[in-house]
Amino acid sequence: MAKSDIAVSAAIAEIPEGGRHDLHHNLSPDAPETESYADGEGAFGYVHTYETGSRLDGPGVRVTLFVSGCPLRCQYCHNPDTWHLKDGTRVALERIVARLGDFAPALRAMEGGLTISGGEPLVQFAFTRRIFGAAKSLGLHTALDTSGFLGARATDKYLKNVDLVLLDVKSWDPETYRRVIKREVEPTLRFAERLAAMGKPVWVRYVLVPGLTDDPANVEGVAKFVAPMKNVEWVEVLPFHQLGAFKWKQLGLDYPLADTPPAPPELVARVLGQFRDAGCNAR
Ligand code: SF4
Repeated sequence: MAKSDIAVSAAIAEIPEGGRHDLHHNLSPDAPETESYADGEGAFGYVHTYETGSRLDGPGVRVTLFVSGCPLRCQYCHNPDTWHLKDGTRVALERIVARLGDFAPALRAMEGGLTISGGEPLVQFAFTRRIFGAAKSLGLHTALDTSGFLGARATDKYLKNVDLVLLDVKSWDPETYRRVIKREVEPTLRFAERLAAMGKPVWVRYVLVPGLTDDPANVEGVAKFVAPMKNVEWVEVLPFHQLGAFKWKQLGLDYPLADTPPAPPELVARVLGQFRDAGCNAR
């Protein structure tokens, strides 16, 4: 780390412990906009929070680090307080690496590791690349939770230190994707193909929202795209829930799914059946 980075980090906060369901707002009001951000050498970054003991974000028991910044605007987002860098806490890389070192023996013993989620970890790609590098030096399994929209930023060098990609394929139909996510699906599909070509282990995630992503043809499209990919170990169907609704309200955002019910078990079963019928390992 350069001397100037060390001077900067002296004024930087500790990593906020907590969880994905905590609301964080305007903790770094001077942070740049997500769209224009370039994190240089990645000596510091903006962090929402981290959780310990997660069994949701990859194999074993994990630490999940939620970083700030996301270019997407999913209608069903549970964490709109990760969209902007300014809502996160500015933390030095060295503090994250030191904290990870504290957890490393337990994580190794529980066959877990580190997952970086968000937000979108590839907004701060230099920062997250260096965290993954440090995690591998500590002998940890690493997972990147991403929408794939910025997948071109995950170079081969970046992916060398990533053992598993949790890839959120949010829809197949481009029109539905545009409506639900407010961006294009193409970058995610190209990233998925690249990961398949390099044999990188992937768990595909599909958020199932009644009336939005549950159209049988839409599910079928994702299933047929993913099924031939030998690197895809699992397709995980994540039923929509309302746990993030309070964040939209408290941030003063217009929440389009305020009246959408959680995905019922019979709908989840139908969609799991579609993935399995196409030849995917789905759960
Ligand atoms: S990609 Fe994730 S963090 Fe970004 S808007 Fe969508 S659900 Fe929210």
